[in-house]
Amino acid sequence: MLSSLSNRKPNLSGIGMTSQRARERLLGRLMDQGITSMEVLDVIRSTPRHIFLDEALSHRAYEDVALPIGFKQTISQPYVVARMTEALIKSGSIEKVLEIGTGCGYQTAVMAQLAKSVYTVERIKPLLDKAKKNLRLLKLRNIDFKHVDGSGGWEKHGPFDAIITTAAPQQVPRNLLEQLADGGRLIIPVGGEATQELQLITRRGDEFNAQVLEEVRFVPLLVGHLQH
Ligand code: SAH
Repeated sequence: MLSSLSNRKPNLSGIGMTSQRARERLLGRLMDQGITSMEVLDVIRSTPRHIFLDEALSHRAYEDVALPIGFKQTISQPYVVARMTEALIKSGSIEKVLEIGTGCGYQTAVMAQLAKSVYTVERIKPLLDKAKKNLRLLKLRNIDFKHVDGSGGWEKHGPFDAIITTAAPQQVPRNLLEQLADGGRLIIPVGGEATQELQLITRRGDEFNAQVLEEVRFVPLLVGHLQH
């Protein structure tokens, strides 16, 4: 495990005491909502979410809400990041993880502090570039990036112990199921624009067992990839 990020670089610790209090409040909220994994809570506590946001929004970084990051996309709500990460940790190995939908890289940063290696793909190039910059700033080096439509997964690096999808398809992409290792899990929001159900799908041999965790709201998983 890596040491606390905020201790490594003072300028990452953010906006003084207000920020420290806001971070503790956020942790309390996550625990109230049923997050129990100390590993996950510790990583969320030490990950500076404000660096993933534009300056105009950084004062809201430790609120438990999704916020805009441009290109009609959002940074995920901390509770949802915690819930998805915890569900993967509690259900098996997370040595090699694939993430679909890097966005600004916040979920990537959380996962990279818990997994051995993270592979992450994003269809919007400027977002991927920004994520690379953010994650370099945090000195997280166990991450490989690719600019691509992630519904095909990333076959070259599979099979994966865990796949986390942070945009919602109407149906579970077959390629993602195929790239799970035996005992691997896919966590994915499935459904239309209004609300989706968060599914945890476990592979045993050629059988896939889906468990519905809760209702969530993600941006849609879109087809094709964009240069700008
Ligand atoms: N993981 C991010 C959430 C980003 S929002 C966080 O921690 O905040 C979801 C992201 O999925 C968006 O950046 C969107 O561009 C991306 N996305 C949507 N469809 C995709 C696809 N088919 N392939 C790859 N990325 C996709």
